[in-house]
Amino acid sequence: MYRKTILKAALLLACVVCFPGVSCARRPIRALIVTGQNNHNWPVSHRALQAILQNSGLFAVDLAVSPPQGGDMDAFDPDFSAYRVVILDYNGDRWSASTERRFLDYVRDGGGVVLYHAADNAFPDWEEFNRIAALGGWGGRDERSGPYLYWKDGSLVRDTTKGPGGSHGEQREYSMNGRNAEHPVVRGLPGRWIHATDELYDRMRGPANVAELLYTAYADPGRGGSGREEPLVFTVDYGKARIFHLMIGHAGPSLEDNPAMQCTGFQTLLLRGSEWAATGKVRQRVPDDFPTERKSSLRKDYRKP
Ligand SMILES: [Zn+2]
Repeated sequence: MYRKTILKAALLLACVVCFPGVSCARRPIRALIVTGQNNHNWPVSHRALQAILQNSGLFAVDLAVSPPQGGDMDAFDPDFSAYRVVILDYNGDRWSASTERRFLDYVRDGGGVVLYHAADNAFPDWEEFNRIAALGGWGGRDERSGPYLYWKDGSLVRDTTKGPGGSHGEQREYSMNGRNAEHPVVRGLPGRWIHATDELYDRMRGPANVAELLYTAYADPGRGGSGREEPLVFTVDYGKARIFHLMIGHAGPSLEDNPAMQCTGFQTLLLRGSEWAATGKVRQRVPDDFPTERKSSLRKDYRKP
């Protein structure tokens, strides 16, 4: 009996006193992936996102899968408030007025949001959503959507030149360039590392309310890019919400052939960004298999080796 009590107390203490990098018996973070419509391969992407989050042991993941395009969106009614982080893998029809209102309530109440890749293509005419994303592309976006935003000579440039929002060159490996060493999501990660083959979103436009710019990459004009150092990973300034915007990770044809999401760097940023959006902290160690300045690194089965 006495021994059992000691054991219980020790377990409780292990949950309360949780040191960075030390695994502990904390309850998994409840996360919701919103998906079901996308001009991207969402049947692959949402399963990859789910696998990465669940395999880490840090998250318990539910899915909110919308009806197909043109379907009855009144039937799409996720309970955002039951989750600590909502991961958007959605680019499709507007939600019902009540679902959109409850999403805004969730975000304004300080909810955690992760915008993943083409989620920032969604809802070009939903003004408040575009403030949650800070930057978006395609869908008729242009100078009315807000300025272009890019990194030049050590600072962010807001460029109001007219023109379309959103493009990318050919897929390739490229260097991710750190612009912040202190934010919890990136603390300890290398300033430069090679991202596995992916699209590189450029010429994105929007309200541009970026809070902390974490990584940029150079969109090489020789490969169809803008010739600018483009913001690809950042947090968004939106009241008390914690919003993590991760533009990388274009889904491949299958879970087995999906290098942008199999990239250890992508997976690490997704995990750390999701934990930060949910809790405001990151308790994950920098993994030993993280890509380097010279070499990309893949986790083909979406789990830490
Ligand atoms: Zn894409």
